[in-house]
Amino acid sequence: MKTRFTFAMTLVLIIAVFMSACAPAAAPADDVKTVGISMPTKTSTRWISDGESMVKVFEEMGYATDLQFADDDIPNQLAQIENMITKGVDVLVIAAIDGTTLSDTLAKAKEAGILVIAYDRLISKTENVDYYATFDNFGVGVIMGTQIETGLDLKNAAGPFNIELFGGSPDDTNAFYFYDGAMSVLQPYIDSGKLVVVSGQTGMDKVSTLRWDGIVAQARMENLLSAYYTDKRVDAVLSPYDGLSIGIISALKSVGYGTADLPMPVVTGQDAEIASVKAMIAGEQAYTVFKDTRELAKQTAAMVDAALKGQEVPVNDTKTYDNGVKIVPSYLLTPFSVDVTNYEKYLVESGYYTADQLK
Ligand code: BGC
Repeated sequence: MKTRFTFAMTLVLIIAVFMSACAPAAAPADDVKTVGISMPTKTSTRWISDGESMVKVFEEMGYATDLQFADDDIPNQLAQIENMITKGVDVLVIAAIDGTTLSDTLAKAKEAGILVIAYDRLISKTENVDYYATFDNFGVGVIMGTQIETGLDLKNAAGPFNIELFGGSPDDTNAFYFYDGAMSVLQPYIDSGKLVVVSGQTGMDKVSTLRWDGIVAQARMENLLSAYYTDKRVDAVLSPYDGLSIGIISALKSVGYGTADLPMPVVTGQDAEIASVKAMIAGEQAYTVFKDTRELAKQTAAMVDAALKGQEVPVNDTKTYDNGVKIVPSYLLTPFSVDVTNYEKYLVESGYYTADQLK
């Protein structure tokens, strides 16, 4: 009995050893490439969606991910990225807080053979950025300018209309593209006198908003209203980001805008953030620009995958994004103008938000 048992056990063992020798070897852990994803902040929901979409897409494609948010603090972002380099990531996808601060860190990434993708925001002053995945940023600005043109019916109305201008963060090259794109539509109306910037504050050196901070925009709007608008009405406010629009709208409401006697000016925005879509539905914010972060995540993953496999990387712009050292090959996605008449199509029917999230 004992002998038969031992014989049977030995047979099982032999079969097991034989089968494992025939089975394909399990992939060694370091065959799985890791993507370090560095996002600027969680204060704006778009970056949370960007981060989550990227984790999902990369993991579906068989990559491991390390997602970090930097609280809009530059040293924090640098430390997080250096930590990713030390841990041996294969790829860095970075939406920079300040695109000019990464040169030393990216020199280390280059030494370690890491692929570097600038995500949505250009990384400047370094050759160590391989590709840029973003939206047509000048086009975003053109949409904003056109929204104001439509909202005030500038082509037909006699005017003049009063307008104030806000820009994004001066350490983010996108802010300049947005401003220039918007001004490409608005400047001719300013030149002809149909639009009047009552404060006289024009140009990014006067209208930018450091770190895209809504509180800073609110304070500036309050100052503009008390200094220039006690006896006149502001008809439009160019705002390049929903988080700024919220601050601007609060300032406007605090002096009585948003009533039958004093209707809200045409206020623009960007990112279709939930709070701002609600403000659009409530008639406070006129427009936003929708940039589908799911598409940007997919595009980024496709670029990374092609680069790592030595295939041709999909880019559609090799002229625009000069980062001071080189022109970064880029892929630009299309932004969309969204208002109360079409938000359901772009934001709900596409599954970006549920109808409940917008209630
Ligand atoms: C992005 C915008 C965003 C802004 C503030 C820009 O770089 O392109 O979508 O509104 O940053 O977060």
